[in-house]
Amino acid sequence: MAHSENIEHQTPNTPLKLTIGHLYPDLLNLYGDRGNIISLKKRCEWRGITTEIKEFQLNDDIDFNSLDIVFLGGGSDREQLLVCNRLKEIKEAFSCYVENGGVVAAICGGYQLLGHYYKLKNETIEGLSILDIYTEMGDSRLIGNVIIECDLLKQPFKVAGFENHGGRTYINGHQPLGTVKYGYGNNGTDGLEGVLYKNVIGTYLHGPLLPKNPALTDFILSKALEKAYPDTFVSLEALDDTVEDAARHYIVNRFSDI
Ligand code: GLN
Repeated sequence: MAHSENIEHQTPNTPLKLTIGHLYPDLLNLYGDRGNIISLKKRCEWRGITTEIKEFQLNDDIDFNSLDIVFLGGGSDREQLLVCNRLKEIKEAFSCYVENGGVVAAICGGYQLLGHYYKLKNETIEGLSILDIYTEMGDSRLIGNVIIECDLLKQPFKVAGFENHGGRTYINGHQPLGTVKYGYGNNGTDGLEGVLYKNVIGTYLHGPLLPKNPALTDFILSKALEKAYPDTFVSLEALDDTVEDAARHYIVNRFSDI
């Protein structure tokens, strides 16, 4: 990224750019997770921020230094097994990226892979151990709409999504992304959903998640811009989210009454 100097605030004319790395889109791509990338890109475009999307296939080399956001979608157990073998080879570089404040959004299968392991009935998928979490397959799948409450911004806000996972994730001492208001979340028992660690968001929420929840999308973009332009980026311009908010409120209200 060529980061320009002397940016006092973000306006449509300032040449900001974010590079988004989409890991293994052919394997980790359940329930419209690709829509999250489109949402990140669109909300940048609407503000005059340039984006470059780099898709990485399983055997591609990844230069994490060239990325501002890393995105991992959900996948079936079989696809996760394929990905996990490759992850071992990029573990160190990915860990460094995270520890240095690199932004990551990981959904469901991708989220599980950031932890120590995902234990299936007859085998164990080894994870990256970037997060101190672990996942074990349960006897049933946890499926349905989810509403969580997040405390990431000045005001708590509700996030709507959809989940479908056999794994139950336990997050040890990590901060959750939110608390479950409706649905199952990490494991259906402790009332927690996802993880927020440094600039990593891990969550079970598909949807796709980001088009449904612009506040979360902007949270991710802001973190990436703060990291890429530490001396100059102040805040994102507000967008008109009337339609997105109406859709989200409708879903939140529908399930809050149940
Ligand atoms: N295969 C994993 C599970 O069932 C993840 C599924 C997903 O990404 N939706 O728990």
